[in-house]
Amino acid sequence: MKVTVLGCSGGIGQGLQTTSLLLDDDILIDAGTGVGDLSLEALAAINHVFLTHSHLDHIACLPFLLDSVMSRRSAPVTVHALPETIEVLKTHVFNWHIWPDFNQIPHQEHPFLQYQPLSPGKALGLNGRVITALPANHSVPAVGYLLDNGVQSIAFSGDTTSCDAFWQQVNQVGNLACLIIETSFSNAEIELAWVSRHLCPSLLLEGLDQLHGRPQVYITHLKPGEGDIIMQEIAACHHPLNPARLQQGQVIHL
Ligand SMILES: [Zn+2]
Ligand SMILES: [Zn+2]
Repeated sequence: MKVTVLGCSGGIGQGLQTTSLLLDDDILIDAGTGVGDLSLEALAAINHVFLTHSHLDHIACLPFLLDSVMSRRSAPVTVHALPETIEVLKTHVFNWHIWPDFNQIPHQEHPFLQYQPLSPGKALGLNGRVITALPANHSVPAVGYLLDNGVQSIAFSGDTTSCDAFWQQVNQVGNLACLIIETSFSNAEIELAWVSRHLCPSLLLEGLDQLHGRPQVYITHLKPGEGDIIMQEIAACHHPLNPARLQQGQVIHL
């Protein structure tokens, strides 16, 4: 199992891209602006897109992805998401005003896009990779994901603030090798972090203290221009797991 980081920033500018992880060659976890760097061949190979939530930085490239590959594919792209997230996509994105409804074309029976509502906690197996939605606590309905190849697994928080249920579920994972978790704001912005349901370093550390295992921890979704101060604040805590900054283009092999 291979995870390629297409984008891991909370925003854009100077080459930064928003959240998207490519699992092997055929599964996207979120579809932020980083998707746009893939070749047309690589885009056409994507069969499944798992969305954490409906915010634009996580779905921005989904409409362009579908439009770009439809002439190269015979099977639909399956979008897995919470029912609430699917409803937002139908109402506010694929509504013919913002973008065509790829769930209706070219034929209702054989569309380019099909939706698969997620049941949180229920594992879905895809060619040896098992994907399970994890709890999250964000300003809209949201999940994280556990990616498990049967030997090792990666937990990804998506966008979240403090969430005891997330840590409880992650602590059930016996083979956790890697944790990718957001920290969007610096400690000076803890109020903003809470109102927008994100983490800052002090809230992150409270969460890490609940973690039983010792995975490699990577920090993602840093706000552009604040990455250095956020990572300095995390380093100053001298946490034994020594979280590292997730890098755009990084490939994690499990
Ligand atoms: Zn969000
Ligand atoms: Zn986000």
